[in-house]
Amino acid sequence: MDQMEAKRRIVLVPIPAQGHVTPMLQLGKALQSKGFSITVVEGHFNQVRSSSQHFPGFHFVTIKESLSESELQRLGGIEFMINLNKTSETSFKDCIAQLLLQQGSDIACIIYDEFMYFCGAAAKEFNLPSVIFSTESATNYVSRYVLSKLNADKFSIDMEDPEMQEQVVEDFSPLRYKDLPTSGLGPLEDLFELCREVSNKRTACAAIINTVSCLESSSLSWLEQEIEIPMYPIGPLHMTASPPSSLLEDDRSCIEWLNKQKPKSVIYVSVGTVVQMETKEVLEIAWGLCNSNQPFLWVIRPGSIPGFNGIKSFPQEVSKMVSDRGYVLKRAPQIEVLGHPAVGGFWSHCGWNSILESIAEGVPMICRPFHGEQKLNAMYVESVWRIGFQVEGSKVDREEVERAVKRLMVDEEGAGMEERALVLKEKLKASVKSGGTSYNALDELVKSLKTM
Ligand code: UDP
Repeated sequence: MDQMEAKRRIVLVPIPAQGHVTPMLQLGKALQSKGFSITVVEGHFNQVRSSSQHFPGFHFVTIKESLSESELQRLGGIEFMINLNKTSETSFKDCIAQLLLQQGSDIACIIYDEFMYFCGAAAKEFNLPSVIFSTESATNYVSRYVLSKLNADKFSIDMEDPEMQEQVVEDFSPLRYKDLPTSGLGPLEDLFELCREVSNKRTACAAIINTVSCLESSSLSWLEQEIEIPMYPIGPLHMTASPPSSLLEDDRSCIEWLNKQKPKSVIYVSVGTVVQMETKEVLEIAWGLCNSNQPFLWVIRPGSIPGFNGIKSFPQEVSKMVSDRGYVLKRAPQIEVLGHPAVGGFWSHCGWNSILESIAEGVPMICRPFHGEQKLNAMYVESVWRIGFQVEGSKVDREEVERAVKRLMVDEEGAGMEERALVLKEKLKASVKSGGTSYNALDELVKSLKTM
């Protein structure tokens, strides 16, 4: 029996958030197609199991979670992650012990989301290889590494100095100190603690990143040098692992509506699966979108706006205007929407998946990021790839929204952004084809997993 037959199981441990679960399961699909068996370990409040029919052959195991979903609201994302790691270590060790008992020692490797670092202890105890998986950009990985070396109190004081804010981080152009993803994520002390934990590679022998070399080559080289383990940029995983499948029920009725719109005329608006918005900003966006005279497809996720229960919750004149000029839905088949010929722009919160999906379809973006990581992504969209621009400021008004939509969808400047987005689209396509960088990285990863 060769080594591959003997050790063919990969244990995947995603973080319980949709933007992380999706690429982890896509990674599972890619590895399954290379002959590995996939076991997914999840907590009680993950959404994965409900959609397990999309992942035939995957084996799902639930570990006891000592933190309930309501704790997430109470503690906020960062403190919740720190606590989740503290309370999950023992149950994960028990789970691995059980798997080894039931299935023999066929575990080739544990691949865990970088934020699920509690897995490191079980890998060490059972002497199993482990690999870190980052579902965010390589530049965010760099930033967390930089933050992990800083002192929170000193950083707060330093950042009061405008010169320091503009200073480039460790010769890592174009990243300035003010770009480091710290805002909107709770107390700095907690954030820095999480960065220290996440940057600690423990016994991991490699890291997989859902990115593409052509988008972030300098960040990837920096990481290889600093972290001293192989990096596998195998993204965008929604292109690597086909066919992409959604975890939640998408409303496909919007495709019919899109079919009736002119080519490249529609602005698609979505702020992802987590962000919460103020009613006032949503109303300004509604007015701005309508005043721009461009048709729009707008995802308003249930629960994303306090007190909002469908567009009937808008004042009557807004509700009428929105239904006349746009199409509002609770959840769109985003990848399909971005690939539709009628879509010419994406108003986005700049989650990493959304960025990859938009670039993969050559769609330029209006960036309205909410917190640190998204702001850094938006900075790359605007200043590095130049395929969109940011709408900045703590508040946005209807005139700004209208101007932004026209700038992207009507002005010459927007055409330039689209042109560059289309060039990147071709590069991404080439990267996942035989001989492309992501294709080769996946090949290398598989070879390495087979010899673990
Ligand atoms: N998504 C979708 N339909 C929607 C809204 C979101 O399919 O109506 C998907 C989107 O394609 C992306 C993910 O949800 O894959 C959002 O991930 P991202 O990293 O952009 O943001 P997050 O939700 O993590 O903030």
